[in-house]
Amino acid sequence: MRELSSVVAGQARAGSERARDVNPARPSEVLAETLLADASIAAEAAEAARAAFSGWRAASPSERGDVLRRAGDRLERDAGEIGREFAREEGKTLAEAVGETRRAAAILHYYAGQTFEPEGDVYPSAGPATLLYSRREPVGVVVAITPWNFPLAIPAWKIAPALAFGNAVVWKPAELVPLTSLHLFDALAESGLPPGVLNVVLGRGSVVGSVLVTHPEVSAVTFTGSNEVGRNVQLEALQHGKKAQLELGGKNPAIVLANADLELAAEQVARGAFLSAGQKCTATSRVIVERSVHDELAARVAELARTWKVGDPLDEQTKVGPLVSDAQLESVLGYLDVAHREHATVHAGGGRADGLGGGYFVQPTVLSGLNGESAVVRDEIFGPVAAFLPADGYDEAVALANDTPFGLTAALFTRDLGTALRFTREIRAGVVKVNQETAGLEFHVPFGGMKESSSGSREQGKVARDFFTEWKTVYMDPA
Ligand code: NAD
Repeated sequence: MRELSSVVAGQARAGSERARDVNPARPSEVLAETLLADASIAAEAAEAARAAFSGWRAASPSERGDVLRRAGDRLERDAGEIGREFAREEGKTLAEAVGETRRAAAILHYYAGQTFEPEGDVYPSAGPATLLYSRREPVGVVVAITPWNFPLAIPAWKIAPALAFGNAVVWKPAELVPLTSLHLFDALAESGLPPGVLNVVLGRGSVVGSVLVTHPEVSAVTFTGSNEVGRNVQLEALQHGKKAQLELGGKNPAIVLANADLELAAEQVARGAFLSAGQKCTATSRVIVERSVHDELAARVAELARTWKVGDPLDEQTKVGPLVSDAQLESVLGYLDVAHREHATVHAGGGRADGLGGGYFVQPTVLSGLNGESAVVRDEIFGPVAAFLPADGYDEAVALANDTPFGLTAALFTRDLGTALRFTREIRAGVVKVNQETAGLEFHVPFGGMKESSSGSREQGKVARDFFTEWKTVYMDPA
């Protein structure tokens, strides 16, 4: 049995509590055991990062960039092998897992290039001989807390810019994905990153979270996960004077108007709702359809839901793998119970996918006839469940789409350019798509949500620099 440990200052650090890492497609298959970090290991990680920070911030842009580039090369080279382990651990299909590994490589390569971007501005000054400039400096020690649903891409888009701009990092991955997480850590550690510049703490959030977020050596906390945990992390971070960045949940709408290409809309809605078994913060979970085409679109999406193969992620025919854990399965089935109790019309799915070796599989599900106040319509479900709602025209559709505390992504399907442009202005979401699914991001543009979906500056692309650096303004006169 493989035993997995945290790594602090380049040294393996094992805690005494053990957690089993299982294959969600076949829960009797134990992949590894994690020797979970305790509070003292977490505190040591913050101290190790602080000790390594001054050396790393002094490294040249090309030294920092070279480490990131080599780590990206390793991930790219080993994507097939890493993707297999990732699919077995997290439950994404092999194609999705290999694709995400390649995405992480591309993110590392992108930020390798960012180390050479300008880092400040020179200003005219009131003093005729004054050199007045402002430049960005690393914030110091960054804590990155990440979820299980994108175990490589999300950590990469936090850790790569943090390192590129000269910070040291303590990374706390989600407990469910230690094997996959260690691939990213190893790629960096084996590419010349000095010990202590990146430390990985494999521990329970409830045990190590507060220690990291409040540690005096920590300067900033970047968090992606649920709203409930994220709000507490934000409060703790702010109370202790740390910078905080949060990427939280979504309840993302796709609006389909009668003048849309319905075949395209059905395919994109199904992709957004069912791929990765719906476990994406950007997943499509509300499908708001102009009444005249509501039943036809529901029938088209239901047809895809019934025909897309649910099964082992390693089977190349599989489009929908298992949910990540028994807790996630229970939670999604709980929402399906609510739908049944509220007499929803079930166009496809509606329950557990049985006969698949006890794995945590749920049928891709298409529901309609739910009240707008139903928990199924309001809560983030994080499973392959699409709730259809009819609307009388564009205005009502946008009002329904905006009727949520979340504001991460949103899509509109229409052939009318004017309506599409109005939508881009009127929808309250950080990412807006027209004739594309709500999920699926490119890594070189800002990402984040409005309202309760995010807080702090945006992630990804050039703007990631905002969070991982702070300004210093210099007034310099000749003697
Ligand atoms: P989660 O909030 O349960 O856990 C996220 C991370 O926080 C994990 O590493 C966890 O161990 C840690 N954590 C738990 N308790 C903590 C504490 N007290 N202090 C500090 N850290 C703690 O979320 P999850 O179930 O891993 O992920 C699913 C959620 O993530 C969904 O709500 C999803 O929408 C959200 N998500 C958001 C985005 C985005 O970019 N907006 C992307 C992916 C996932």
